[in-house]
Amino acid sequence: MTVYNFSPGPAILPNLVKNKLKEAITNYENSGIGIAELSHRSEIFIKLASETEDKILNICELKREEYKVLFLQGGASQQFAMMPMNFLTKDKKAAFISSGVWADKAYENALYYGNAEVIAKSEDFKSIPSFDDRNLSEYEYLHLTSNNTIYGTALSELPKVDIPVFCDASSDFLSRKMDFSNVSLLYACAQKNLGIAGVTIVLIKKSLLTKTNNVPDIFSYKVHADKDSCFNTPTTIGVLAASLSLDWINQSGGLKVIEAENIKKADCIYSVLDSNKCFLPFADKISRSRMNITFNVINKELENKLSELAKANNFLFIDGHRSVGGFRISIYNAQSYDACKAVANFLSDFAEKYST
Ligand code: PMP
Repeated sequence: MTVYNFSPGPAILPNLVKNKLKEAITNYENSGIGIAELSHRSEIFIKLASETEDKILNICELKREEYKVLFLQGGASQQFAMMPMNFLTKDKKAAFISSGVWADKAYENALYYGNAEVIAKSEDFKSIPSFDDRNLSEYEYLHLTSNNTIYGTALSELPKVDIPVFCDASSDFLSRKMDFSNVSLLYACAQKNLGIAGVTIVLIKKSLLTKTNNVPDIFSYKVHADKDSCFNTPTTIGVLAASLSLDWINQSGGLKVIEAENIKKADCIYSVLDSNKCFLPFADKISRSRMNITFNVINKELENKLSELAKANNFLFIDGHRSVGGFRISIYNAQSYDACKAVANFLSDFAEKYST
């Protein structure tokens, strides 16, 4: 029986990525050495890292002269601390859009190093709050989260404002076409659309690298950039997984095709949730994520039933985040339309059987 993995992360990987990784574990590129055993100082790894950087810049339509790609570790959580460490001081402030728990963690971390202000907040996290983008000149940067994994909400586009935009794109990076030139710093903890847990992708404008604070090397964007992500030992297998994910996106037709597919996949699930009164989608329609579909069952007594039946039918990891409950179906790039259709049919059958 097919097992459907709707985990929010680490999440499902494309078969191409898994098969190539399997091969590379024992023999990377016919070197006779496995990728996890390969020195990060070797020519073969340096080439991989440089090519992966190019692939990311190409897909984001950014220029190497303007942006640097870093392969770091410590996940998005480390980025929450690195951003203010590098760019804030007690007499400087940054602006934050409060759209969820992760967004608020970025804000809380900034308070250790400087002033942080929430300039827009969605009380119940059901939508992305709007904000006044005109009066931002007093801030060093504006931080936002493009996809709120826990709540299933997403920004429609990356805003263009007069101060640097820093974006946590952990759960929607490379799931759709966006104007990436609007951001000065973007980070993604991977394990969703790109690669595996362990590698954190950071895109940073080179002009920012001249403005960093003096911080310990391991937390310095400038040091990591100057050393091409090899200041300390990078996750060689993580970089390869990211590279293979990019190959898969390109082979699938690129971001435009991936985005169209993601719209189709999300629509087929949302349409079942919208047309059956027993379900209550969590996010406001205008802010709905195409990566994480969140909802509740109106009759609370049926929640356990749905959870149990889902597991029994191999629709795995659809329980909502432990902090909010309900349900969440994560359908990142590698999730097939057939899997989305299967879970949509399952939900539709459930509604028919159990709603009164
Ligand atoms: N931001 C977002 C949007 C996330 O989805 C997550 C984790 N799923 C994080 C931050 C935290 O990432 P990490 O566990 O890599 O620190």
